[in-house]
Amino acid sequence: MGGRTLTSDVVISSLDPETTFMDLVGPENLPGHLKDDVSGWELDKWSYTTVHVATNEPPEYNCRDRSVRDSFMTIVGIESTEQLLAHWQAVQSGTIDMDAFGGHTTWQTQFDPHLSRVPGKHVSFFQMHAPYGIAGGWEERRPEIEAAMLEKWRRVAPNMGGDNILMTATETPEDIEIRMPNMRRGSIKHGDYNPLQLGAYRPNQDCSGTDTPIEGLYVCGASTYPGGLVIGGPGYLAANKVADDLGVERWWTPTPEMQRYTETYLD
Ligand SMILES: Cc1cc2nc3c(=O)[nH]c(=O)nc-3n(C[C@H](O)[C@H](O)[C@H](O)COP(=O)(O)OP(=O)(O)OC[C@H]3O[C@@H](n4cnc5c(N)ncnc54)[C@H](O)[C@@H]3O)c2cc1C
Repeated sequence: MGGRTLTSDVVISSLDPETTFMDLVGPENLPGHLKDDVSGWELDKWSYTTVHVATNEPPEYNCRDRSVRDSFMTIVGIESTEQLLAHWQAVQSGTIDMDAFGGHTTWQTQFDPHLSRVPGKHVSFFQMHAPYGIAGGWEERRPEIEAAMLEKWRRVAPNMGGDNILMTATETPEDIEIRMPNMRRGSIKHGDYNPLQLGAYRPNQDCSGTDTPIEGLYVCGASTYPGGLVIGGPGYLAANKVADDLGVERWWTPTPEMQRYTETYLD
């Protein structure tokens, strides 16, 4: 690490299996069938692209129901099941259906005004599922897709254009991977949810209890049971396991929800 050697009885990795075991531990150091398990890991089959927008005024939706304005998440552009399926099918095929696409918007400064460095101004975003390897390439298609997303947003929130917009920044699946190298190919959960990568198989049957066949090495993070998204479960389970293995008394107490979950699914 920066030329320094750090020693510890325990290392806990929250990275994807390939980074932890292949890049950091090294395939030559993997006992048993761990190398095969890690090599078979499948990444998420979709990612996200997000247009972030700084504006003078927040989005004003053209909608009689005022609660839409206050929603945490507003679905934009999807009008029917058929359209949703067309959008999803395109993403799975490595492209974006420029008619059918849709996603969700969130006006973040409504919930946390500090997200805007300039008091009184606003930030919001429009996010949608997108393929990592898009036909035509993300760098080439970024302006076209950003413009199409803003246009679709304007259809339901007419003030999301013109002078109201101060700045835009689009994050593509490639940008996600650059920001978080462990989110390979823009995999926001570090790996697909399929039957062989869930439950006792996440990330594989040797490591789903957060300890690994390598002494002192533990795993947590989105690729470890119970999985990805902002749930905190893998880190919580790893902390418990490490404390137990080291004989350290836990100084934290589970929330009632966690207690119920543990009794129902883990004990
Ligand atoms: C655009 C986007 C939208 C999302 N939307 C939602 C949502 O609405 N709801 C939700 O629940 N989840 C959402 N997620 C998913 C969620 O953010 C992830 O599943 C979650 O962050 C995984 O947490 P983690 O701690 O396991 O790993 P990460 O958050 O990926 O953290 C891993 C950390 O390790 C660092 N790192 C990488 N490589 C190394 C290395 N070699 N050495 C040291 N450090 C390294 C990374 O920089 C990062 O800080 C979204 C993700 C993205 C990208």
